[in-house]
Amino acid sequence: MATEPKNRVSQRLAALQPSATLAVDAKAKALKAEGKPVIGFGAGEPNFPTPAHIVEAAAQAATDQKNHKYTVAKGLPELRAAIAAKTKADSGVEVDPDNIIVTNGGKQAVYQAFVSLVDDGDEVILPAPYWTTYPEAIRLAGGVPVEVLAGSDQDYKVTLDQLDGALTERTKVLLLCSPSNPTGSVYSATELAAIGEWALENGLWVVSDEIYEHLVYEGEMSYILAEVPELQNQTIVVNGVAKTYAMTGWRVGWMHGPADVMKKVANFQSHITSNVSNVSQVAAIAALEGDQGVVAEMKEAFNRRRTTLVEMLREIEGIEVPEPTGAFYVYPNVSGLLGKEINGRVANTTTELAEIILEEAEVAVVPGEAFGTPGYIRMGYALSDEDLVEGASRLQQLFA
Ligand code: PMP
Repeated sequence: MATEPKNRVSQRLAALQPSATLAVDAKAKALKAEGKPVIGFGAGEPNFPTPAHIVEAAAQAATDQKNHKYTVAKGLPELRAAIAAKTKADSGVEVDPDNIIVTNGGKQAVYQAFVSLVDDGDEVILPAPYWTTYPEAIRLAGGVPVEVLAGSDQDYKVTLDQLDGALTERTKVLLLCSPSNPTGSVYSATELAAIGEWALENGLWVVSDEIYEHLVYEGEMSYILAEVPELQNQTIVVNGVAKTYAMTGWRVGWMHGPADVMKKVANFQSHITSNVSNVSQVAAIAALEGDQGVVAEMKEAFNRRRTTLVEMLREIEGIEVPEPTGAFYVYPNVSGLLGKEINGRVANTTTELAEIILEEAEVAVVPGEAFGTPGYIRMGYALSDEDLVEGASRLQQLFA
């Protein structure tokens, strides 16, 4: 007689939260399939193709037989050298190429950062709104995310008082993401210096996700390791080519950190994925070492869309729109629209509001619940200028 297997799915995976974006996303796709002209502000990727010289380098690499074989798990030496050079040029931070690990996107770097630092029950301070993957990666590693809410009233940036309030004996790591997904907020050099000193005083690790570093529209990008170099022995930096070079599909990210930890991470990666596709790694070298004019061009387009979207959203009563200065997201506070009648319907949560916006205006936005902060919506502006204006006009009409 057959015996049913017990606990079919491990507790670890059973505890993973379904992405709150899925409901809206599935509906948007269904509407599109029906031929409805849905305009999507949901995407987290540039709408540009990867620049031609990068694609060309990859095409060449595909014909080279040495790329048909396994290579060193932690990344091609040429790429790690290019990352070290780029890091020095952009931030002034010196990194030994040996302490850089090339990963399958920044996402794998995020996961590996937590796996390498966190034991069961260790706490990770997670500023909210946060990118959806962080709490899941922390929990998968056995850690406990401790959310610190920084709302639109404080430009989505945590204060030292808040960090003090979240600190316990189990706190091991502070996560920072600047420029931020989902808010577009950017910490200044002064703010990062203060937070870095605080982490140093309290003996914490910092995981700094800098993947949107080249999309800062006002002022300059600041780097925590440039502000507080003493932190280098207790910081892991996460980065990648996805957002800067419109290369989300190529799956190349990286992480760097102190030698003892990176050694263990390289060992871990050698058991789960080995090297990132060589063709993609060669493409990443071309991206980092080639003409950076393409980055400036895309940034200019994003900046234009940012200005337009913010202006158009600010014309809507009930929406509060702090100025996002980085990445390609606007994160309006829409709590003023809850409980109000919209085309005869009422939304009591932002998940319901996103549903109404989708059904009544055929515009897809991601509800703040996905990022740990109900009351907000995320709108990505990596879409064409025409679509952006059309989508924002529909929102103006819906809430008029
Ligand atoms: N960090 C942040 C903040 C992100 O928004 C993303 C992409 N959504 C990533 C890391 C990972 O990007 P990728 O895995 O495509 O390199």
